[in-house]
Amino acid sequence: MTDFDYDLFVIGGGSGGVRAARIAAAEGGAKVGLAEESRMGGTCVIRGCVPKKLMVFASAFPDAMADARAYGWDVQGGAFDWPHFRKALAAELDRLENAYRGTLKNAGVTIHDTRAVVEDAHTVRLATGERFTTRHILIATGGWPFVPDIPGRELAVTSNEMFDLPALPRRALVVGGGYIASEFACILNGLGVEVTQYYRGAQILRGFDDEARGHVSNAMQAAGIAVHCGTDVLRLEKATGGIRAVATDGTEREFDLVLYATGRRPNARGLGLEALGVTLDRAGAIEVDEWSQTAVPSVYAVGDVTNRVNLTPVAIREGHAFADTVFRGVPTRFDHVNIASAVFTQPELASVGLTEEEARKLGPLEVYSASFRPMRTLFAGRQDRMLMKLLVDPVSRKVLGCHIVGDSAAEMIQLAAIAIGMGATKEDFDRTVAVHPTAAEELVTMRKPARVY
Ligand code: NDP
Repeated sequence: MTDFDYDLFVIGGGSGGVRAARIAAAEGGAKVGLAEESRMGGTCVIRGCVPKKLMVFASAFPDAMADARAYGWDVQGGAFDWPHFRKALAAELDRLENAYRGTLKNAGVTIHDTRAVVEDAHTVRLATGERFTTRHILIATGGWPFVPDIPGRELAVTSNEMFDLPALPRRALVVGGGYIASEFACILNGLGVEVTQYYRGAQILRGFDDEARGHVSNAMQAAGIAVHCGTDVLRLEKATGGIRAVATDGTEREFDLVLYATGRRPNARGLGLEALGVTLDRAGAIEVDEWSQTAVPSVYAVGDVTNRVNLTPVAIREGHAFADTVFRGVPTRFDHVNIASAVFTQPELASVGLTEEEARKLGPLEVYSASFRPMRTLFAGRQDRMLMKLLVDPVSRKVLGCHIVGDSAAEMIQLAAIAIGMGATKEDFDRTVAVHPTAAEELVTMRKPARVY
C-alpha cells in the first residue's frame, strides 16, 4: 500500500509524459495520474510534427500533378481548398487525441484535464483546487514558441496558429532559418502562397552539414521561395493591405501573414519548481542528470522542457527510460548520440552523425558525395538534384556521418542510422549490394572520395 495518492504524477500529456505514464502504469504496476491543460498528445500530435507532415503531404500535390502530366496523365490541377483540408486535419487530430486518451485509460492512468503545478516535493496542486500527494513527479511540459521582443510582434503568428488559419494568405513572410521556419516556407510555397523567408545568419539550417544546407537553400529558391539571408525584421506595422515588415536590409514590404519561427523555449516557469529547489539553466530548461532526475530527488523531467535534444522520439525514449528505471527496476540511461533527424523541407534533408565541418575538426577525413538527378523527376523534366554524403574516418574506416537531401531522405536515414549506430565501415556499405533502380543505391556505390582532408 502506498502512503501517497499516486506513485507517479506526470505534468504534461505530450510524447514524453504519455510514454512515461503508460509504462509506469501498465508495466511497472504504478498508480499514475497525469494532468494536461491543453489537448492530449502535446505539441507533436496537436500543433507540431503530425499536422505539419500532413501539410507537407498536402503541399506536394502540385508537383505530383505536374509530374503526372509529364508521365502522360491527363490531370487538371485545381485550386487548393484550405477549409476542406483544415476540417479533415481537425478530424484527424481529434482521432489521434482520443487514441492517446484511450491508451492512457487502458493502462490505468487517471487523466486530469487541467493545469497542475508543484506544491512541494510530493504534492501537486491542480487548477481545480484539488491536491494530490505522490511519490514521484515527472515534469514533461515541453516548450513554447519564442518571438523576439520587436515592435509589432503581436501582429505575427507562430507555428501554433498555422494549422488553424481562417484562410491561406496570398503573401507570407517567414522569419527564422531553423527546422520550423524552413519547413513552413516550403509548405506555404507548395500550397501556392508567395513566400519570403528572412534569416539573420549567412545560411539557413544552422547546425546541419554545410553542403546539405546549401543544397536545400538552392532548391527552395529554385522552387520560388525568396530566401533572404543576413536579413531580420526591425519592426512590424499594420498596413492597409496587411502587415508591413521593416527589415534590416532597408526594405519595407507588405505581407498578409508573418510567421515567426525563431526557436522555442522550455515550459518550466510558473510550475513552482524554483521555489522547490529544482534548478533551471540559462535557457530556462530544467537541469537533470543522465537519469532525468532534477536537483530534487522525487522530481524528474523529460522532453523539451529539459532542452537536451528537442525531438519527439527523444522525449519518448527519455520518458521510457525514466519509467524503466524508477518503476520497472531496470536502470536505463538514454544515450543522446547518433540521433538521426529530418527536416521536412522540399526537398527533405536528413542526417545522422557528424557534419563534414564537425568531422574535419577531429582529424583526417574522406568525404564521399554524390549529387545527381533522380530517375523519377528527371523523366518528368525536373532539374531537381539529390545529394548523398558519407563521411569516413580513413583510419578506422568507420562512417561518421550520413547526409541525404531529396525525396524520401527521411525514410532512408532511418536505415542508415542503424548501420552507423552499429559502427559500420565504408567497406560494410560497399559490400552491400545495391537495390536497383533506386536513389538509395547511391549510398552503397560511391567508390571514390570527392574530397580527402
Ligand atoms: P531552431 O532553433 O531550429 O531555429 C530557430 C531559428 O530562429 C534559427 O534560425 C535562429 O537563428 C533564429 N532566431 C532565434 N532567435 C532569433 C531572434 N531573436 N531573431 C531572429 N532570429 C532568431 O528552432 P525552431 O523554432 O525551428 O524549432 C524548434 C525545435 O523544434 C528544433 O530545435 C527542433 O529540435 C524541433 N523541431 C524538429 C522538427 C523535425 O524534426 N523535423 C520540426 C520542427 C521542429 P540562428 O541560427 O542565428 O540562431
